[in-house]
Amino acid sequence: MAETKSNGLVYEKKTVYEKAGAEVVSAAYEYAKGYAAFLDASKTEREAVVEGVKMAEAAGYRPYTFGAPMKAGDKFYYNNRGKNIYLFRIGSEDINNGIRITAAHIDSPRLDLKQVPVYEDHGMCFLKTHYYGGIRKYQWLATPLALHGVVVKQSGEVVDVVIGEKDDDPVMYITDLLPHLAAAENEKPLYKAFSGEKLNILVGSKPLDGEEKDKVKMGVLQYLHDTYGIVEEDFLSAELSLVPAAKARDIGFDRSLVGGYGHDDRVCAYPSITAMIDADESIHTTMCILVDKEETGSDGVTGMQSSLITDIITEIAKAMGGNEAAVRANSKCLSSDVTATFDPNFADVYEYRNSSLLGCGVAMCKFTGSRGKGGTSDASAELVAWVRKCLNEAGVVWQTCELGRVDAGGGGTVAKYMANHNIDTVDLGVGVLSMHAPYEAIAKVDLYEAYRAFKAFYQF
Ligand code: MN
Ligand code: MN
Repeated sequence: MAETKSNGLVYEKKTVYEKAGAEVVSAAYEYAKGYAAFLDASKTEREAVVEGVKMAEAAGYRPYTFGAPMKAGDKFYYNNRGKNIYLFRIGSEDINNGIRITAAHIDSPRLDLKQVPVYEDHGMCFLKTHYYGGIRKYQWLATPLALHGVVVKQSGEVVDVVIGEKDDDPVMYITDLLPHLAAAENEKPLYKAFSGEKLNILVGSKPLDGEEKDKVKMGVLQYLHDTYGIVEEDFLSAELSLVPAAKARDIGFDRSLVGGYGHDDRVCAYPSITAMIDADESIHTTMCILVDKEETGSDGVTGMQSSLITDIITEIAKAMGGNEAAVRANSKCLSSDVTATFDPNFADVYEYRNSSLLGCGVAMCKFTGSRGKGGTSDASAELVAWVRKCLNEAGVVWQTCELGRVDAGGGGTVAKYMANHNIDTVDLGVGVLSMHAPYEAIAKVDLYEAYRAFKAFYQF
């Protein structure tokens, strides 16, 4: 609830601990356990879709095929190429009243393997990478990494790869320079000290007997063939990514935070899908979109700029006897993506009054973008007032925010791509510490207020 003093004049942010009480806090701690399990099982968009399908099917959702008939109460999911999933449930009210949509993304910054990745250098075997999304490169050095993804053979056979997650699995690793010899490197600005072409993964150092050259590389290729039945050419049609090997853990003596890889944006994806499933009684038609490619600009068949969103709305409108333009004009969307939590250690890039504060609930960004609000859809005051009423009446603890100081930088979400379809959209999500780092942190109570907010939105 947006806090006012008893005289009603002053807007003040307060924490969930102060406002919502012990019952909500303990429910938040419990809810975070399910989230941590989801996070560990969903380190790539493909894995998140597998988890999403499991959750949807357990809740009675059925696979959707284009042109299938629909009626009130029907629950469908559409698995888009294994990287993007739509859940939708047909409500009892007139479809022309629109759809309640949440849209979160399930891709996260990481290191993808290049198509010709394997090489040997001075008796060590490495894999070349091409980073995906915005990373601070130095954070990925000298830390355990796991390899996740698929190799699709020419025959179409898909080989799933997950290595580095079990306690006795080997992990992958990028070397870093020892401080003793870093005198010259220490003089360089950060963006010059770490180059993309140095993010090479060390994967072997034991020569294969009987080989003439590249003995270590041959050993690695032999291992890959023995284990996965693949040859070097199979990397051409593979999607393999290096992600942090670490598991989600509670942070702090009071266990109030969750640390993990890929909170951006699974910390919104999880409350979106669980709220969708739990808002089963809504009279509205509801939709939960978990989308891919946000971190690279939302392009492509599995990104938010794909025509799939309008294709599905067209099909729903047609099947329910509605008018597609009316359905979109009357729909509302929460772009559920993370924002930056104010960090006192880097206070000079934030503007405190308008920052998302740790533990103060789910955070709304009326606009995103950079410089003079470049690249934002900027939600209308009318929409914000509507969401405000929805959240306040449901007793949700929420706050308003923008990413950081006006001239410090900026960022975007999928909000504008939804809004461009004439769907009223505003960003509402969870604040994250160390966003895009291999290990990010969020507050359990903020996560839980996101769940409560999305559920309220689906039902209001
Ligand atoms: Mn995001
Ligand atoms: Mn991001």
